[in-house]
Amino acid sequence: MKTIGLLGGMSWESTALYYRWINEGVRDRLGGLHSARIVMVSVDFAEIEVMQAEGDWAAAGAALAREARHLEAAGAEGLLICTNTMHKVADGVQATVEIPLLHLADATAERIVAAGVERVGLLGTRFTMEQAFYRDRLASHGLEVLVPDSAGREAVHRIIYEELVLGEVREASRREVADVVEDLVARGAEGVIEGCTEITLLSLGDLVRVPRFDTTRIHADAAVAWTLGDAGATSG
Ligand code: GLU
Repeated sequence: MKTIGLLGGMSWESTALYYRWINEGVRDRLGGLHSARIVMVSVDFAEIEVMQAEGDWAAAGAALAREARHLEAAGAEGLLICTNTMHKVADGVQATVEIPLLHLADATAERIVAAGVERVGLLGTRFTMEQAFYRDRLASHGLEVLVPDSAGREAVHRIIYEELVLGEVREASRREVADVVEDLVARGAEGVIEGCTEITLLSLGDLVRVPRFDTTRIHADAAVAWTLGDAGATSG
């Protein structure tokens, strides 16, 4: 089993799920007392959020690159950035370490293609929904990506930063996000990407009628496949 490096804390609410789901995946595959070999750094999200809001991606990228080097020095053999948004700086992070980065958008796109979905809606922070870094990566796998209209993007972004990263799940917000998905489906989306690692907290299954692609679950699954050496496991 290879040692997984988790670059987390963005937010810790979803990093906690990564830790649980990777360990459960290894236990389910290997049985007995087996658990995953993991090293983790968990940043102070308040510091990262300021850089995001100011658009200082160079500083954010440098901060994550520094943490990635710490993971490598601590024995990580592969790296996960446990947030969709911060994949904006993934190439710069990858360039500073020797170990492979398991890219969240690649793992997600592979799952969507395997499901036979071609046109997919994307929910996430406004950085993920509005900027090219994530949508273009999905498009490179042949996917057509739809994002919510500006009111929908505003609603999803606000719910992420004011509620979900704080671990708050409100019924009104669940319904608001489901309405945003309904708009995407009406525009032709055959599935929807939960492209923020906290959206899984909303448990949208009872409100959404198209396949949902939970990026936290998909990334955790990819880590399990990679650490156990499955052929074809996503790597950078
Ligand atoms: N965890 C979120 C994501 O997957 C949002 C927090 C962040 O900006 O990193 O994008």
